[in-house]
Amino acid sequence: MSKILIIEDEEAIADLEKDYLELSGFDVEIATRGDVGLEKALKEEYDLIILDLMLPEVDGFDICRQVREEKNIPIIMVSAKKDDIDKIRGLGLGADDYMTKPFSPAELLAHLRALTRRQGDVVFETLSLGDLTLNLESMDLTCGNESIRLSQKESAIARMLLGSPGAVLSKEQLISRAWGPPPAPATIT
Ligand code: CA
Repeated sequence: MSKILIIEDEEAIADLEKDYLELSGFDVEIATRGDVGLEKALKEEYDLIILDLMLPEVDGFDICRQVREEKNIPIIMVSAKKDDIDKIRGLGLGADDYMTKPFSPAELLAHLRALTRRQGDVVFETLSLGDLTLNLESMDLTCGNESIRLSQKESAIARMLLGSPGAVLSKEQLISRAWGPPPAPATIT
């Protein structure tokens, strides 16, 4: 079972994430202060860290940098401000994924699954919802006795949909996931 550390000072958010991830089969711990989170992250063994940016005592920037110096554990950086996320990306602190609040627990799970998959964790060899099963290795999508081989982009979209049951995903979200974010608009000087 994968062990996740959530470093998040908004307890309601941390609890919501914890409940959802536990229902999805993860073992979850919460730290609501930056210094406590950093200590846990360095001393204990986790498979992934969900790291909020604005935290009391030690902020997410410092935690990400210090954890990266010692460990290669996947980190999802979370912030309420898109600007901050862009800044973190620019700093190249070594986070593996970024999310802007608010997001649904289902979105978080989809990111987490994609990430643990990339890290070579075999826990998520397949992703299932109802009759549909997507093999993340071969990209075969199976429904009952029928199976089709998806393209890379089809698989990315299927993975997002299967990983977010009940969630309404916009066309933009699906396109962004499969094709990457749109290029920044040209600035007029
Ligand atoms: Ca915060």
